[in-house]
Amino acid sequence: MLRTIVFLFATGMSLAPQNSPAQPAPQLTLGSMDVHWNEGAPDCSKTSQPPLQVHPYNAQTFILRENPCATAEAPFMYLLVGSARALLVDTGDVADAAQMPLATTVIGILPRINGETIPLLILHTHGHLDHRSGDAQFKSLPNVEIVRTDLDHVRKYFGFADWPNGVAQIDLGNRIVDAIPTPGHYPSEVSYYDRDTGMFFSGDFFLPGRLIIEDSSADLASAKRVAGFIQDRPVSYVLGGHIELGSDGGYLEIGSHYHPREHVLQLTKQDLLALPGIVSTFNGFYSQSGMFVMYNQSRILEGIGLTFLLCLLACILGLRRLLRRRKKTN
Ligand SMILES: [Zn+2]
Ligand SMILES: [Zn+2]
Repeated sequence: MLRTIVFLFATGMSLAPQNSPAQPAPQLTLGSMDVHWNEGAPDCSKTSQPPLQVHPYNAQTFILRENPCATAEAPFMYLLVGSARALLVDTGDVADAAQMPLATTVIGILPRINGETIPLLILHTHGHLDHRSGDAQFKSLPNVEIVRTDLDHVRKYFGFADWPNGVAQIDLGNRIVDAIPTPGHYPSEVSYYDRDTGMFFSGDFFLPGRLIIEDSSADLASAKRVAGFIQDRPVSYVLGGHIELGSDGGYLEIGSHYHPREHVLQLTKQDLLALPGIVSTFNGFYSQSGMFVMYNQSRILEGIGLTFLLCLLACILGLRRLLRRRKKTN
């Protein structure tokens, strides 16, 4: 059941200048984060877990997660329902509807007006395939708008004239969602803030897991802009695209279909406010700050490639020397 209560935020209140007139306390529509995400399995052929898990946070807000057995990425998606239309943030890692009933599930959740489901807008946090492969399932459906993830389309759709500066608004009907550019992990990444629930959707820009940073200066600038944005706003939960941490703070194995004892999905406003400090310690290659491992995947791959080439060169030179010695001794 929907519970709307007055939500007082100590942080926000304490930031108000002394002797200033009392500000109206922000009202958030709250819900339940009491959920256990399915773990996948050591042997996926022996599990009866469904490919898609849906957690109704409240009557208008749904958190969806692809099962680790369906995809080791096990990404999260978010469905926000307004009075005029609904917004789906990300479409996951699986294109095939027979394996992943994403579109039928989402359309099944949408309210109907005069027998027709309300329009659905599909936006993405970013363009990596594990966040947009499900687009294919929606392409032929009526009343669905899908916004592409390349920077050109993102800028034009939201009207960002001075990317990555500025904040755009999406009106779902009595529900406004702010779109905030957060490049760094991905050049056209966007995070979303739902004014109704206070949820901040941070994709792979910020999550309980590995922070893959491809552009350090862009990422740090994004972290600072986001910290400025949320400073005086109520944030109930910061929700990313994956869980890669265990409840003990250790990291889950990359590529594993079994995610036992995961860290909770939600991070806090304080965690997000601390992000500029975390990213500022990144050495541009691989480093760790607190529970967050940060690395630049492209540079690591380049490093591996360079090491391989150097080893190959050393082998060729060694072989040439050996052949020359043999020639001399013959
Ligand atoms: Zn990504
Ligand atoms: Zn991802």
